Parts: sequence; structure tokens; C-alpha cells
Amino acid sequence: MTTLPLADKVALVTGGSRGIGAAIARRLAQEGAAVAFTYARSPQKADELVQAIQATGGQALAIQADSADATAVRSAIATVVSTFGRLDILVNNAGVAALAPIDQFSMEDFERLLAVNVRGVFIATQEAVRHMGAGGRIIMIGSINSDIVPFVGGSVYALTKGAVASFTRGLARDLGDRGITVNNIQPGPVDTDMNPADGAFAEELKKAIAIGRYGQADEIAAMVAYLASPAAAYVTGASLKIDGGITA
Ligand code: NDP
Repeated sequence: MTTLPLADKVALVTGGSRGIGAAIARRLAQEGAAVAFTYARSPQKADELVQAIQATGGQALAIQADSADATAVRSAIATVVSTFGRLDILVNNAGVAALAPIDQFSMEDFERLLAVNVRGVFIATQEAVRHMGAGGRIIMIGSINSDIVPFVGGSVYALTKGAVASFTRGLARDLGDRGITVNNIQPGPVDTDMNPADGAFAEELKKAIAIGRYGQADEIAAMVAYLASPAAAYVTGASLKIDGGITA
């Protein structure tokens, strides 16, 4: 019998009820990890995903925890450790977007994007590394918008994803001597509720993508599986684009 690459590992994916996070949770479970994921507002989607993973013989746990709520995030990590006994892999995937030109951008949206996309990532990472040993993995889902913003209104979203990219580099230095790697996946357009392939932006964006189509959430999950695996032990501090060539 072959041993799966993530057998005996425990993973937490923030924002895993839908979209890219759900694909990551499914993929990590296929690789043999016990997978917990958080969500904010979609209990039914979360239950469906737990059942789907369990139906294929995997272990899954859904935890309601808004990434903007520090107490809820810390408590989610405590629940993962008490349920599965350890924590090896944190995927900071939960993220929100709001688009408006700077003179129309509301303070409310500014605070929400910072709270989920930056503060939430800080809190989850700080709490998770308290439980991680050598071989630990922190994987961010940033965005190519950290580097390019090919539309009007994306300045604050780009700001948050730029923060994720630089946080990744600093964390790689903080945690390298503990054998914990920290990397940032920067997707281009991926077909999800946040950015549907038939949405208002899609036709214009597709013209700029070398491959000529949106990415699929499973294609991002494949990169997460690699970074989480023992094979990626020497990759740290990296921002890795998976964007169909939109930044080529
Ligand atoms: P979706 O909006 O499709 O899904 C977001 C997921 O995150 C849902 O499971 C949602 O759960 C959860 N979530 C949202 N807000 C919170 C919160 N405050 N606390 C906890 N969970 C939350 O987004 P995508 O799958 O498209 O995006 C995932 C990540 O990928 C984000 O960080 C995004 O910025 C990034 N990204 C996406 C791209 C794209 O083109 N789709 C491109 C580049 C990066 P619930 O419904 O229960 O709230």
C-alpha cells in the first residue's frame, strides 16, 4: 500500500466553504491530511463539503469563524488542535474584495478588506505557528494584483495582497530555523463566486490572459498540494504566480 504524501498531517484552510478554499480542502484531504476549514456565512456549503470529503474516506471539520474576529480565529485553531491533535499546514485563503475608485472607496470597505485580508492572516498565522513543529507549512493565497492591477478600482484590494506578499517574506525569515516554510500563491483570474468566468470583467480580462481562459480552483489547489508536501521543503519566502500568463 502506498502512503499518501500528507498522511498523518493536519491542515486548516481559512475560508474553505466555497471557491478556491473548498478546492484546497478537498485536495489536501485527497493527499491524506485531516482537514479543518473555516467559513463565515455559508453553513450549508460547509456541511456539504464535510460530507463530500468524508464520503471519500477523508477527515473533515467545518468551523464557523469570521477571519475579522480575532477571538473566533484563535478559538478555531484551538478546536483543530483539540480535535485532530496537531496542526501542520495553515492555508490563509479567506479573502474579500471590493472595487471602487479611490475617491469613492468607503471607509467601511477599507476596514473590512484590511480586517479579513491582512489582520485575519496575521492572527491565524501567529496562533497557528504556536502549534507547528519542523515541517510546518504556511501557505497564503495572495493575488497577482499585488503586482499588477489591470482595471480601475482595485487599489485597496491590491494593497491588501501586497501586504500578504511582504508578510510572507518576513515570516520566511522568522520561521526558517524552525523548519517551517511560508509561501504565497498569487492566482490570476479564477472562476469562483468572487470572480465568475462569465462576470462583468471576464471578457476584457480573458484578452489579457496568455492561456485565454480563467483558471479553475483545482489548479490553485494543485500548487497548494505541492507546497504542503515534503518535496517543497526548500521553497520558502516565495510568491508563486499561477495566472495563465496574465503577467507574462
Ligand atoms: P469566494 O468569494 O468564491 O469564496 C470565499 C471563501 O472565503 C468562502 O468560503 C467564504 O465563506 C470565505 N470567507 C469570506 N469571508 C470570510 C471571512 N470574513 N471569514 C472567514 N471566511 C470567509 O472567493 P475565492 O475562492 O475566489 O477567493 C479565495 C481567495 O483567493 C481570496 O483570498 C481571494 O482574494 C483570492 N484570489 C481569488 C482570485 C479569483 O479570481 N477568484 C484571484 C486571486 C486571488 P462564507 O461564504 O461562509 O463567508
